[in-house]
Amino acid sequence: MSGARKVYIKSFGCQMNVYDSNRMADMLAPEGYAETASPEDADLIILNTCHIREKAAEKVYSELGRMRLIKQAAARDGRLVTVAVAGCVAQAEGAEIVRRAPSVDLVVGPQSYHRLPGLLAQVHRGERAIDTEFPIEDKFDALPAPSREATRRRGVSAFVTVQEGCDKFCTFCVVPYTRGAETSRPVDKIVTEAQHLAEAGVREVTLIGQNVNAYHGEGPDGRAWTLGQLLHRIADVPGIARLRYTTSHPGDMEASLIAAHRDLPALMPHLHLPVQSGSDRILAAMNRRHTRADYLNVIARVRDAQPAIAFSSDFIVGFPGETDDDFDATLSLVEEVGYAGAYSFKYSARPGTPAAELADQVTDDVKAERLQRLQRSIDRHQAGFNQRCRGQTFDVLFERMGRHPGQIVGRSAYLQPVQVMADAAIIGEIAPVTITDLSTNSLFGTLARPVEAREPLLMQAGG
Ligand code: SAM
Ligand code: SF4
Repeated sequence: MSGARKVYIKSFGCQMNVYDSNRMADMLAPEGYAETASPEDADLIILNTCHIREKAAEKVYSELGRMRLIKQAAARDGRLVTVAVAGCVAQAEGAEIVRRAPSVDLVVGPQSYHRLPGLLAQVHRGERAIDTEFPIEDKFDALPAPSREATRRRGVSAFVTVQEGCDKFCTFCVVPYTRGAETSRPVDKIVTEAQHLAEAGVREVTLIGQNVNAYHGEGPDGRAWTLGQLLHRIADVPGIARLRYTTSHPGDMEASLIAAHRDLPALMPHLHLPVQSGSDRILAAMNRRHTRADYLNVIARVRDAQPAIAFSSDFIVGFPGETDDDFDATLSLVEEVGYAGAYSFKYSARPGTPAAELADQVTDDVKAERLQRLQRSIDRHQAGFNQRCRGQTFDVLFERMGRHPGQIVGRSAYLQPVQVMADAAIIGEIAPVTITDLSTNSLFGTLARPVEAREPLLMQAGG
């Protein structure tokens, strides 16, 4: 197949969807599809969807309304546009999507997107294509390596999926149903992917998985390796200067992973460790498999290994049966840990999950009030953390040009955006910056010494 066809891919939800969208683009490139940022120009529109909360899932249907109009306008010009829904809504609601949005030609679940070329051929034959299987073949084996050009366009920081699915079955969560059972990719394949990324100029790799620290992929010695071992191996890849991993379950913070925070300079001192609630009663009802004390114990052990560590977390407010006392326990946990940042959500009942069946659902008013209080507390801690950076000098990885001429944006070890005035040639470099000022979301600073850039990597402004 050849020709200058265009694909527009929009990602909703988590980092794994961003990674999957890139891999879908890699898969379609040899089929003659170039990526476009505008759905109006596209011959193929893919919405890569998220099902984690009701709001996220509903967003897809409103976006599909917009895509239907684009498809109709193209048809009036004699142009055929294919609309595809991928990701977790596709997995969970395949038939419902087609019923509610007849303009959808193709539905593909997160485990079968390597079959996209075949599914598109089906659509071009005039059939509707739906594939929401959990195939036995490994989708990663079928995916081509991203081109050097695509990798450079995507930037100096990249995600690599190392683990997928989840066996934890928290009672509020759809992930075990939409992404399936926990699986880990073999070490060699991950290393090869990291090498390709590094050769194209990537400096920072974030290993991702729904439950990334449950990683147990096959190592070159035939044994199951831990995430700690894998991090050590990736740190040896020439060019990779920074490592991160997300998202972790507190119950899987095993010893080799905690030790990596002490022993691996490339591993950034920032850990996203979702807790969801500070109340033992609610943690048990959520089937989180850890108590508040277990969680605090993990935090203490990681802090012991790496005193510079900063933590972030996820919280759910208004889980069924959550009382004022339970919520107060969450607030007190935020005080006790002192997070550098956190995401917080109102509990959203998801069809098919055990918690959705519980009788004592919390009213939306109560959830909204608790969310506001929790976010105020998290914001206060985050602002304090950022304030303490003023006057400090620390390393920043420069990622892209900023909104204003001459401005370059990078990230600190703690993922804070840092803006400096500098030459674009420093994109891809790591250099010390002295923080002089801050706004709500960014730090501003000056380069602490002149930087000698290697090969320049020019990225798009924005974001
Ligand atoms: N695997 C991770 C963990 O164990 O925490 C994160 C999974 S999920 C993609 C990201 C976050 O969404 C969760 O940590 C949780 O806070 C939130 N979440 C998941 N299900 C939810 C629900 N039904 N209602 C509200 N928030 C939810
Ligand atoms: Fe969902 Fe995370 Fe719990 Fe797995 S561990 S069920 S992904 S919240």
